[in-house]
Amino acid sequence: MNAPEPIHTRPGQFVLTLNAGSSSLKVALYASGGDTPLVSGIADRIGGADGILKLKDGAGQPMPVHGAQLDSHESALAAVIDALRRDFPALALVAVGHRVVHGGARYAEPLVLDDAALEYLESLVPFAPLHQPHNLRGIRAAMAAFPGVPQVACFDTAFHRQHPWVNDAFALPRALYAEGVRRYGFHGLSYEYVSGALAQRAPGLSSGCVVVAHLGNGASMCAVQNGRSVASTMGFSALDGLPMGTRCGQLDPGVLLYLMDQKGMSAGHISDLLYKQSGLLGLSGVSNDMRTLEASPAPEAAEAIDYFVFRCQREVGAMAAAMGGIDALVFCGGIGENSRLIRQRICERLAWMGIELDHQRNAANAFVVSTETARTTVLVIPTNEELVIARAARAAALTAEANP
Ligand code: ADP
Repeated sequence: MNAPEPIHTRPGQFVLTLNAGSSSLKVALYASGGDTPLVSGIADRIGGADGILKLKDGAGQPMPVHGAQLDSHESALAAVIDALRRDFPALALVAVGHRVVHGGARYAEPLVLDDAALEYLESLVPFAPLHQPHNLRGIRAAMAAFPGVPQVACFDTAFHRQHPWVNDAFALPRALYAEGVRRYGFHGLSYEYVSGALAQRAPGLSSGCVVVAHLGNGASMCAVQNGRSVASTMGFSALDGLPMGTRCGQLDPGVLLYLMDQKGMSAGHISDLLYKQSGLLGLSGVSNDMRTLEASPAPEAAEAIDYFVFRCQREVGAMAAAMGGIDALVFCGGIGENSRLIRQRICERLAWMGIELDHQRNAANAFVVSTETARTTVLVIPTNEELVIARAARAAALTAEANP
């Protein structure tokens, strides 16, 4: 019997995922149908003098990258392709999957992009001015680099599109709702992954009322009832809800009026304040990074953590109330997956909803971190947005091929 052909020499064997931010491009290469990336990494500080491309192989070993030019997203993608081709010369792609922050009111599923869809996504730029333009740039760069390969957009808003109207609307004149001023919710790719993993590993819980806390640099919570999102702490923009690394979280809109009227701040200045100078960084004056804050002796760092924990506790209650109860609380994201201290602090004052941590399990970042007797199960599920994108991109490309 002939040995099977090595996977990388067969055509159409890979799915590339791209997540383009303002100055970064995160990439992962999967064998089509595979769940473990063959390559993953990031081109960071694109456009700066100190741009850097870091790639690692499936075993987590650094891959060689020679003299990458990173002056634009296009050149960053070219550098990534160059590095990938050394190990995978054929690089025949089934699809390229893109993380796109906003799919508006129209898209609740991943989408094979065409000109009309791109035009619609372009029209959403005013809704996510700090994210959407970069996502679209990544798409255009990939279209130019891989002509004829299906480009599939996977939306961070899609998982929330089934929200009931009361959670979708703001109490503003209805014309604004009609033009798209709604609570969209974000981090949907993460919630989709976590909900899927929960359904596999604890099906009894996943059919109940679950609060998922995605706590990373960006942070939000989602009320997931029987696998569907019914409420989320993020709303019209990725600013609302929990405080984040540098974003403010929930804010009285009166503060914005004050900043404009009394301090004469422009929209650009306020945007910079709310997105880049607030949150843990603004409160502590030390860092946006939770690890740094946990290690800091500064009282302001401790206060920033106190604020973060308090707002998380409040929002677990709000999400549970939106569902009429809670069966499980799931932590994910860099902080949720790794910080036993933050999990412990958040859970401490939630005993009234049946939450009780097992400290040994919590210290080990175990799958279940609550006690055997706790009424509400607390879990840690490392999220994997790239895998959701890779699976969705492959499925959407194959469906489109079958139904041209
Ligand atoms: P992003 O939203 O950019 O994807 P991540 O999900 O990677 O961010 O989360 C980054 C955050 O996770 C940072 O605040 C970092 O300090 C925090 N974090 C990572 N590991 C730990 C840890 N062991 N203890 C506390 N915080 C951690």
